[in-house]
This record gives sequence, C-alpha cells and structure tokens, in this order.
Amino acid sequence: MYVANTYLATTAEAMRASYDCERCQGSALADVTVVGQGYAEAPFFIGQKAAAAHAAKAATEALPAALERTLGLAGCPHCGACDPEQVKKAKLDAGLHRAGGNP
Ligand SMILES: [Zn+2]
Repeated sequence: MYVANTYLATTAEAMRASYDCERCQGSALADVTVVGQGYAEAPFFIGQKAAAAHAAKAATEALPAALERTLGLAGCPHCGACDPEQVKKAKLDAGLHRAGGNP
C-alpha cells in the first residue's frame, strides 16, 4: 500500500509587466496579480519538510508562466486580441482537467 503526505503551495504576487501585442504591435503596461501553485508529496511520510519546501519553490517558479498566461488571456487593450498560443494552452488544460474527472 502506498501512502504519502501531499503538499500544495500557493503564492501570489503583484507584478507590473509590459504587454506587447503581436497583432497590432501595440504595447501597454499592465498591473497583474499572478498566482502560482506547486505540488509535491512525501512518499511514506519520508522527507515531509523537503516536500513542503519543494511545493513552495515550485509555486514561485510557476509565477513567470502564470504572468505570461494571464497577459495572453486578458487581451490587447488596443485591438482586443488574445494571444492565440495562450488560448490554445488554456483550452488544452480545460480538456485535460475534464478528462481527469474535475469539472
Ligand atoms: Zn493589439
């Protein structure tokens, strides 16, 4: 039988980032609150401190990708276009979550 302690860490950070639109070449500054999550587990309850630290580190490391995603899905303030790559990733993630049984 496999048992483990699981750790989920969430971190949020307010960031100011440049938004550059590939469609209209417009740019703007955006104030964004970005949320990152990290997950780790300690199998058979071994290394629980390390797993907690790993989850926290992973949450912090997830922030740049979350910023890119948030900006891409927010849309351009000039022409309204969203980043097609971020839209595609979001759709894939939604599909994967549905396939995994989460609504
Ligand atoms: Zn634009």
